[in-house]
Amino acid sequence: MNISYKELSKINELQFQLIREQLRYIVENSPFYSKLFQKEKLLPNDILNLEDFKKIPMTTKEDLQHQNQDFISVPKAEIIDYVTTSGTLGKPVSFALNEADLQRLAENEKRSFEMVGITRDDVVQLTTTLDRRFMAGMAYFLGLRKLGAGIVRSGSGLPALQWESITRFQPKYLVAVPSFLLKMIAFAKQEGIDLKKTSVKAVICIGEPLRDSNLKLNALGRKINADWDIELFSTYASTEMATAFTECKEHTGNHNLPDLIFAEILDKNGKEVETGQIGELVVTPLQTRTMPLLRFATGDMVRKLGNNCNCGQNSLKISTPLGRKKQMLKFKGTSVYPQQVIECLNAFGSLNNYIIEALHDELENDKLLIKIPNEFNDLKALKTHLQAHLKVLPELQKIDGKEIDVLKFPKAGRKPVLFRDLRI
Ligand SMILES: [Zn+2]
Repeated sequence: MNISYKELSKINELQFQLIREQLRYIVENSPFYSKLFQKEKLLPNDILNLEDFKKIPMTTKEDLQHQNQDFISVPKAEIIDYVTTSGTLGKPVSFALNEADLQRLAENEKRSFEMVGITRDDVVQLTTTLDRRFMAGMAYFLGLRKLGAGIVRSGSGLPALQWESITRFQPKYLVAVPSFLLKMIAFAKQEGIDLKKTSVKAVICIGEPLRDSNLKLNALGRKINADWDIELFSTYASTEMATAFTECKEHTGNHNLPDLIFAEILDKNGKEVETGQIGELVVTPLQTRTMPLLRFATGDMVRKLGNNCNCGQNSLKISTPLGRKKQMLKFKGTSVYPQQVIECLNAFGSLNNYIIEALHDELENDKLLIKIPNEFNDLKALKTHLQAHLKVLPELQKIDGKEIDVLKFPKAGRKPVLFRDLRI
């Protein structure tokens, strides 16, 4: 059932029916939520509209971490696949899926691929890992399988194998992390592969932001397109959501799948924001069975982009995350997220080394400091650029480039750290 093409009022009606069904299932089967409902003196049948629904307390990442087993709502024998969250912030959390969840995951990804325009006639190369307890890799495989498309499981890394697979199987689409495309481009240049003549026409991008807050391709996206003329589709998903938000061909935001997830975008007081505004994404995945969640606060700040789209779908669209709620800086009266500053600095051509730090000043106000190398000499232009894009000017400090590298590559980390939060 794809209800996204129905009128908005119909979508909302059908979605609320699914929310009520999910509530009944959850309170009956989830130890965590049956306790919560008892404590709050709530009954599923008391929840007659969205206003009632929003009285249910939100579930946090900490709840999932500390009471993980209490979320399991099926007998152990029913569980088929065990996965963990990426653990970008804190310890990875365990998740599990039964047959119904795997079917649901396949349907979710099938629709995500259909939105991009993939059909059973196409070949898709998966340059992501299928194992390592990673839900998304499996979801892509299951979704393409359900769609009936051809699949090349080339796996992550190995640019040589990727190009050999492209030559061999002629895929029209790739699923890839955008920064990995840069590695593929570099390899192609080195090996004399003509990027104008490959079979690849589009890439479903995962794991990294591809657009800025105005929905234009960010520096990374532009860098890819400068060398390789392929259509880039942004997606946003997480293990907890078990659902992908995907861009259609209009590239004006990521569509939600209203029968598979209910999305709220809330301000700091828990009120739904207006279209165009930024708020925290709070999700209730629908039709999940093994570890169903109610009003899960993702901590991701997204922009609400409304329901109208030229593609004909009337489902809600959101931006990809603009930052983490905890990382928000209230800076000279404006809310700024580190990711916005990173995008802005990456877009400034001549600056290729920096680190951003958030601190408190003597009055406990947030302060934003950008450390740049001593040899950087385009300070005036950088200030104008920052002022124009962020509407506020952070403090700039010149230090030794080597010191920046030390801060950027802490011993335990695998990825460079571009933002340090020193406010706590
Ligand atoms: Zn659309």
